[in-house]
Amino acid sequence: MAGGAVSPLTMFRTRFAPSPTGPLHLGHAYSAILAHDRARAVGGEFLLRMEDTDLERCRPEWEAQIVDDLTWLGVEWDGPILRQSDKLADYNARIEPLAAQGLLYPCSCTRADIRAALSAPQEGVAFAVYPGTCRGRGMETRHPGDALRLNLVAALDVIGADVTFTETGPSHAGTHHIDRANALAQIGDVVLSRKGEEIVAYFLASAFDDADQGVSHVIRGEDLFDFTPVQVILQRLLDLPTPTYHHHPLIRDDQGKRLAKRDDARAIARYRAEGATPQDIRRMVGL
Ligand code: GLU
Repeated sequence: MAGGAVSPLTMFRTRFAPSPTGPLHLGHAYSAILAHDRARAVGGEFLLRMEDTDLERCRPEWEAQIVDDLTWLGVEWDGPILRQSDKLADYNARIEPLAAQGLLYPCSCTRADIRAALSAPQEGVAFAVYPGTCRGRGMETRHPGDALRLNLVAALDVIGADVTFTETGPSHAGTHHIDRANALAQIGDVVLSRKGEEIVAYFLASAFDDADQGVSHVIRGEDLFDFTPVQVILQRLLDLPTPTYHHHPLIRDDQGKRLAKRDDARAIARYRAEGATPQDIRRMVGL
């Protein structure tokens, strides 16, 4: 049954988790077909999840187009589509226990900084490690509109030394140990949410849903590899299982640039309109 609890040892379950902020492009088609075919090859399950936490940028018409394109491609998912916008209050409620453990603090740094920290990544834009301006604040000083940040030093103290995850993608295959010094230098005190506006960080919502949906294998683009350590740290703190990760190379354009959803020239809808078949798309992405 899709959506229920499952032992990762007995069931292969993966997902495709687009953010409906634009049309499905070749790069996303690659991700979706790869994950779908893997699941089918081993008799596992493949889920579809809309990561529509950014209420300003996500649109129902993009979701409808993504669903239509996936169906046309022959990518069939198991169970209903999960929409993160239905769970915003839930994600916020579920991080409250971290506040009681002294692992969160309110932050009133600017809206633009916080929005940038919350949205899904773009290539070439690494985490801007927070300098810790608000770190000394207690939760009792929380004002409406403040963000909540993770106190990473305190979090790493709670979870202890050996935090690892397994990666099977071609560029980073192996067991990765999350090193404290690197985590502090590269991740820092990330923003998890901002209450009132019901917004949560993409990597937090995704970590909750991979656990809630019993995802045993996360298959996604290499641009998300750098987010994996923070997701694994959150899984430990929130007592969630850690799936196996597989980050695949990105499909790039002729100039070697990553295909973004905004790059409508590579939209599946455009290829369809020009008469391409699903087999043509598979050939184009090398599957
Ligand atoms: N929603 C993310 C994106 O569209 C993908 C997240 C994931 O696969 O973990 O870039």
